[in-house]
Amino acid sequence: MTGPAPDTKGQPGISQAALFALCPRCGSQGLFAGLTRFAPRCKSCGLDYASFNVGDGPAAFLTMVIGALVVGLALWVQLAFEPPLWVHLVLWAPLIFGATIWGLRVSKAALLAAEFQRNAVEATGKDLRGDAATDTGQSGD
Ligand SMILES: [Zn+2]
Repeated sequence: MTGPAPDTKGQPGISQAALFALCPRCGSQGLFAGLTRFAPRCKSCGLDYASFNVGDGPAAFLTMVIGALVVGLALWVQLAFEPPLWVHLVLWAPLIFGATIWGLRVSKAALLAAEFQRNAVEATGKDLRGDAATDTGQSGD
């Protein structure tokens, strides 16, 4: 369900907000309080980040993408150079860690910005029964 569109004046786009961890309402920095944990609210405009439900979608997607990428690269390095095992540890452990943290931050920020721009809220039983259509001015007047 969507409500009225929020005022979009001066707001960053989804990609800009995601790449630079910007507040989707005012564009100030400080979206994250930890490596991948959102701050409770925006320090500039007070937007409550906890009210957005980003969920675990980015983590599952990143696991598959990064896993496939690293396995492919590790196979190529092994077949091309036949290095000792410690080379794989030195190469892939930091890459996996960095790509996962960076990917989680970007994807979580993108989902939060998309939810904010679309004014998305969780559907309720009322929405699923179709009662919402009668509440939106479709009374036939
Ligand atoms: Zn803000």
